[in-house]
Amino acid sequence: MNISVIGTGYVGLVQGVILADFGLQVICMDVDQKKIDRLNAGDVPIYEPGLSELMHKNVEAGRLRFSSDMKEAVESADSIFIAVGTPPADDGSADLRYVLAVAKGIGEYLNGYKVIVDKSTVPVGTARLVGETIQKELDARGVSHEFDVASNPEFLREGKAVNDCQRPDRIVLGCDSERAKDLLKKVYNVLYINQTPFIFTEIETAELIKYASNAFLAVKISFINEIALLAEKVGANVQEVARAMGMDGRISPKFLHAGPGYGGSCFPKDTKAVADIARKHGEQTLVIEAAIQANEKQKAKMIEKITDSMDDVKDKTIAVLGLSFKPDTDDMRDAPALTILEGLAAQGAQIKAYCPQGIEESKWRLADIENQITYCHDEYEAAKNADALVILTEWNQFRGIDLERMGKLMKGNFLFDLRNIFAKDEQVRKLFQYRPVGRT
Ligand code: NAD
Repeated sequence: MNISVIGTGYVGLVQGVILADFGLQVICMDVDQKKIDRLNAGDVPIYEPGLSELMHKNVEAGRLRFSSDMKEAVESADSIFIAVGTPPADDGSADLRYVLAVAKGIGEYLNGYKVIVDKSTVPVGTARLVGETIQKELDARGVSHEFDVASNPEFLREGKAVNDCQRPDRIVLGCDSERAKDLLKKVYNVLYINQTPFIFTEIETAELIKYASNAFLAVKISFINEIALLAEKVGANVQEVARAMGMDGRISPKFLHAGPGYGGSCFPKDTKAVADIARKHGEQTLVIEAAIQANEKQKAKMIEKITDSMDDVKDKTIAVLGLSFKPDTDDMRDAPALTILEGLAAQGAQIKAYCPQGIEESKWRLADIENQITYCHDEYEAAKNADALVILTEWNQFRGIDLERMGKLMKGNFLFDLRNIFAKDEQVRKLFQYRPVGRT
């Protein structure tokens, strides 16, 4: 079976590698020639644990190739996965220009029956739109070929993407053709025979499942962040509240960690997109809109927490550990660090930042405040002469830092632990003016 994955980003590359590892012949196609050149040179353009080894293994086995040739990608495939970006437009709606450009390209080169699979997160109705776009191109060419479009949303988590694609919680397949369903069962045969739950459903339902899942997780995070703000006011401990809440099987302990607000390439854009889909259908998603607002408030509250505790941050040096939106990724899209660093810089702070993987992307995303940021090689260099230390992302390596050494290197002694990684450490409150989130 030949598969082409169009769009070789966080989703497309991982999916392509995993499908090749499942024994299929895969072409990962992208319009970004530099990315394809890097991949062909054996260089993985994103940081994702475990991906590099698996990619090399499958390239060497002759099952995985990288190309910028759309014609070849379409003509050679039995099934074409669309995994291009769907970034937010100015009004919050999902920008479908990349998805529809791919659909047009498929229509231009389609040469026989194929199943087109939407992996990108797309508004309800997009699979039909993709089908119409392909058909329009076929009509323009004056040719007739059968094809089906299915929705197969992706649920991988960056940082754990390889495992999530090898052992997904479920595969959602929105499809209204038995022929396409049979072909996709073969594509996912390894998972199908391993008893991964498969949800075969209508296309519209599959499209909504993805948005509903992400919006629910965003609501859960905003909810516990709101409880954290309240806990600080009333003298309660949000970690204990969350732990006890999570023991209730109806609630579950996951996504109940208070912090600086959610970020990344999915929750911020998908919550806005689902609110936009609702508006376009004459509905309003009040709970989701509140989660979006609460998330903006949470980031602002983190800036306030730092500036209020320090009285004034003008000309103070703040060491920041962790820039990427979560650990084990280099992805900085919508990372809380962007808003928080900009907020601190606007008030005159000087920032010394260290992140294991997020620095390269921060450099261009935070170019507006580059005069106020010094990027450091490790935690200790960042701490040197700093008035305060801020933990923004809970990379595992930060859990093991030598707090005493950090304290000695610093000029001041504030520690803002926005991920509560040291909250249970006895020593931390003796060494620092310690400020966790949602507890003392
Ligand atoms: P990305 O920005 O990392 O990758 C998209 C890739 O598509 C880029 O390499 C870009 O060059 C390429 N591209 C754009 N137009 C193209 C075209 N016409 N032909 C070929 N390639 C083209 O995006 P991503 O993070 O992988 O996300 C892709 C989709 O998957 C989005 O809809 C996203 O919401 C969804 N998703 C992402 C995640 C995640 O954690 N990143 C998880 C689940 C779902």
